[in-house]
Amino acid sequence: MASHSDSWREARLRPELKFLQPYVAGKGFGEISRKYGLLPADIVKLGSNENPYGPSPRAKEALASVAMERYPEPEELLAGLASYTGFPEDMILLGAGMDGVMDTLTRIFLDSGDASFIPTPTFSYYEILTIMASARPIFSPRGERHELTEVVPARAKMAFICSPNNPTGNVIGEQELRAMLESTDALVFLDEAYVEFAERSLIHLVREYDNLIVGRTLSKAFGLAGMRLGYALAPNWIAEQYRRAAPPFYGISSASAAAGAAALSDLPFMRRSVERIVSERERLVREIECGCSQANFLYLRTELSSHQLVEKFLSRGIIIRDCRSFRGAGEHQVRVTVGTPEENRRFLSAYREICR
Ligand code: PMP
Repeated sequence: MASHSDSWREARLRPELKFLQPYVAGKGFGEISRKYGLLPADIVKLGSNENPYGPSPRAKEALASVAMERYPEPEELLAGLASYTGFPEDMILLGAGMDGVMDTLTRIFLDSGDASFIPTPTFSYYEILTIMASARPIFSPRGERHELTEVVPARAKMAFICSPNNPTGNVIGEQELRAMLESTDALVFLDEAYVEFAERSLIHLVREYDNLIVGRTLSKAFGLAGMRLGYALAPNWIAEQYRRAAPPFYGISSASAAAGAAALSDLPFMRRSVERIVSERERLVREIECGCSQANFLYLRTELSSHQLVEKFLSRGIIIRDCRSFRGAGEHQVRVTVGTPEENRRFLSAYREICR
């Protein structure tokens, strides 16, 4: 095999890669079980904002009859999303997770020399997408209550607004979003990955503003994170371009299309798990006296460095998220996903031991 020099290899790579750190995901069962010698069954995973109740049993049944030898046919999935969201199918964009939807959208909009507005701390994939499009992120630190503190600058072509925001759990208000949409030339991407856990969605504004796209996912409330299925609601002028630029079959699979359609056919299941998670969230907020959240996670300030604190939880088999990888979160914040009552009990008893 011919082996090339480092400089040859470097010249092949896009220079943007130098500015990127790999996306840091929450830790998994395998890694923690190997590192601490624990059985996966004894580990409580509260680091990735997953839904412990999983999807409707209908999704599992649907997987059994997936035609794996065929390319996906997403008609039923689109019909399910149209009925769930109240939007016509031609305004619904599909993707491999919301990550996949955002990937295609940034390829449509962001070009070399463009900029995107990113209030921090927030979901770090916005930054990776911006940089890989040869555009520049304009970071704007959130205020004390994690609210936005600056308007979208004139040079921004896109703005990424996460609501409820990961990792802080707070939302943007309707009047605030309207004011933003009316005062900017940028396209606003409103990330509603966690919206089912919140009091309200702002999805209806997509009918009023032609510079708003709302991203959604089946990873959270619908319990299908492993299926990688996301969508967005977009005005028609954007949806038309999306269908040109998206990967074949939108990057979804026959399995994810079938599981998604089945999960959407059982909204009572989803609503029951959301109710349980929200009621446990409120209980945890009272027990540990932390700030409130409209998502399925809590954002906690720590006395110890977040790294040390997370290690103490990990050694007890409890995975929580160290927020140092969120730009602007500092060294003293952790994020804890709301689990089942039993998982939360394990978390709380470790919390009392470690933090009191
Ligand atoms: N947006 C936010 C705020 C998220 O936290 C996540 C998942 N971590 C995503 C988008 C991506 O979701 P999906 O699983 O649909 O790609």
